[in-house]
Amino acid sequence: MLEHIHPDDQKIAQERAEARQRGETVASLYQVTLVRKDGSTFPAEVNVTLIDFQGTACSLCYARDITDRVKQENRLEVLHRFTAQMASALDLDEVNRITYNALVQVLGLSRGSLGLVTGEELTHEYRWNMKRTEVFSMPLDGPGITVRAVNSKKTVLIKDIRDDKDYYQGGEDEESTLSELVVPFFVEDNVEGVINVENKEVNAFSANDVIIVEILAVHIGIAVERMRIRTEQKETQKRIFELLDQLQQLNEELERSNQDLESYTYVVSHDLKAPLRTIKSFGGFILEDDIEQLSLDSKEYLNRILNAATHMDELITDLLTLSRVGRKDTELGKVNLNEIVESIENDIIAILKEKNAVILKDDLPVIEGQATWLKQLFLNLITNGLKFNESPQPTIRIRVEQSEEIYQFIVNDNGIGISSEYFEKIFDLFERLHSNDQYEGTGAGLSICKRIVEGFGGRIWVESEAGVGSSFYFTIPKTNG
Ligand code: ADP
Repeated sequence: MLEHIHPDDQKIAQERAEARQRGETVASLYQVTLVRKDGSTFPAEVNVTLIDFQGTACSLCYARDITDRVKQENRLEVLHRFTAQMASALDLDEVNRITYNALVQVLGLSRGSLGLVTGEELTHEYRWNMKRTEVFSMPLDGPGITVRAVNSKKTVLIKDIRDDKDYYQGGEDEESTLSELVVPFFVEDNVEGVINVENKEVNAFSANDVIIVEILAVHIGIAVERMRIRTEQKETQKRIFELLDQLQQLNEELERSNQDLESYTYVVSHDLKAPLRTIKSFGGFILEDDIEQLSLDSKEYLNRILNAATHMDELITDLLTLSRVGRKDTELGKVNLNEIVESIENDIIAILKEKNAVILKDDLPVIEGQATWLKQLFLNLITNGLKFNESPQPTIRIRVEQSEEIYQFIVNDNGIGISSEYFEKIFDLFERLHSNDQYEGTGAGLSICKRIVEGFGGRIWVESEAGVGSSFYFTIPKTNG
């Protein structure tokens, strides 16, 4: 019996046979390496039973050649290892190395390459056991078996190269290839490259080999896609950081230029006031002292000049106010809005009486803010509601609503209303819908309101119907700076 068993396994086989014949319990099914007559070896599964042969204890032994099974088991093991390694591959060099190792183990690869589609070419970036060491590219509209696999998006198996006109022999000193297997790999539906394996023998690749290389190709496709997504993510992340940087710079610049603009407006407004004062006072002198010498026309002109100067003075005052709204030097504190509205009522008591007007209000909250600006905001809205109002009893209603995050105030009047095409325009600086003769004003009031509200992090808008009245809405976040 022993002459059929490989020397490495002889000892154990002998021990077992003897033990079995002594009547001991021994495994009856096991694996050994057997030797053929020609000396070649193969893995076998043996099944041994103890029999009585003509009065003697004998071993009856069946052996089965399990070469294919062992090969499949090994392949599966290689495949598992390959899958695990490929799942963590970081770059194409690694993909190449892992693929090459797997192919050597499952196919006994003689030569081949990993080709990558780059633009209009298939570049054989990684070459295995080829004489030509330089990278070579094949145009996708030219001949070649690998190119054919790319274009057809299908596995190409050539059992005998000599029958295929497309075979690309490479250099003259290249060892001859007789069979070739090319399997494309994909990202989504696009062929990204091919696994190309060649063999010196005719018909070297079995159906099983094809399946295994196709499985490798699927994993390569996934790895390539994963690497690409990673690169894209990194680039996106980098881009976001760059944009954030730019945004911060822009913000700083904007803040600087805002500050510049504010101080510029402030200084200019102040400086403009001085010559205006001169115009007004000298004009006043003429009117007072030389009134007799002036013609009727001259008097009229002078009055116009003085009116214009007064209007300009108001414009400059509004500009000054507007430039101050942005400044952070006003003190924050708890402001009782009921008190604010009451103090406004006091300030404008004469107008209220003259117009037979009333102000009705909800119980208003105490909020965090700058009293000066909150007063200015309510004052502008209330006085507008009274000014643009022809009702026998102008009525201002101040209401408040709230959610968890914000207060929403509504200043409503029964005035002349605004038609909807002007709902946005009226908040622009110096935009007015009426001449100074109809209703006096500068057109700065609502821009000042807007600035104040936005400074609180809120929003202001109007809803109105011409002839019925207007409601100015504004929000103030409960947790404002
Ligand atoms: P001003 O009151 O100095 O004209 P505002 O900026 O306060 O400037 O208002 C801009 C324009 O919006 C006003 O000229 C007026 O036409 C319109 N407006 C503002 N408030 C009201 C209101 N409550 N009712 C009707 N129209 C209004």
